[in-house]
Amino acid sequence: MTWGIIGAMEYEVALLKEKMELERTEEISGLTYHIGTLAGHNVVVVMCSVGKVNAALCAQTLVQVYKVDRLVNTGVAGALDIRANVFDVVVSDELCYHDASLGVLERNPPYTSKFVADHDMLRWAVVSTCEVADGAFSCFVGRIVTGDKFISDAAVKADIVERFKPMCVEMEGAAVAHVATMNNIPFVVIRSMSDKADDSAEMSFDEFAPKAAENSARIILKMLEIAEY
Ligand code: SAH
Repeated sequence: MTWGIIGAMEYEVALLKEKMELERTEEISGLTYHIGTLAGHNVVVVMCSVGKVNAALCAQTLVQVYKVDRLVNTGVAGALDIRANVFDVVVSDELCYHDASLGVLERNPPYTSKFVADHDMLRWAVVSTCEVADGAFSCFVGRIVTGDKFISDAAVKADIVERFKPMCVEMEGAAVAHVATMNNIPFVVIRSMSDKADDSAEMSFDEFAPKAAENSARIILKMLEIAEY
């Protein structure tokens, strides 16, 4: 069982790279794949860079070249649900694009505009989040929306909230989920809130993203420890 673990930015994968027993690294299409073991599992850890195409390219490489059996996307996001605060964690139950024509996706492959996370991985993610949080932050399960824009405008945020009622917004998750779904690979996305996707988002992101990203990586470590198979 090999886990493919993707983060968009260096500080989203730093802790995982530090903790893993590295066997080798390989470069494909400009991305560096770190191959080794972590908490007794075979893992491939990679920083995919920001945005949907980078995430999809990376996820497909993990599936096709490294034959991963499951995919995890870790990182930070902008909170959209009114209950979610900075450092709270959202575990995906489903993901969709907020910047795509959903009808077109539904009429053509992949014939869906929603990508549903794996039940067991979701359960492990929630248990891990609660253990790592130890009461310091909350864990939500819900919809994550993805698009190729950093959302930092209250009006844009309000429009996305009205259309999708999501928990949070980021820039890679649905692309990873899309690739996983097309390849029949179980996946889950775990995001720690760095900002609230409003007019304060840029400042909040700069201040809180590194810590939020580390929390998310800690959850992945815990998840590998408790995964039942
Ligand atoms: N600060 C970097 C890029 C950050 S883009 C730069 O300017 O070069 C934001 C990253 O964090 C993406 O990987 C995205 O998945 C996530 N993210 C956090 N908050 C977000 C928000 N409000 N809107 C969209 N993505 C967000």
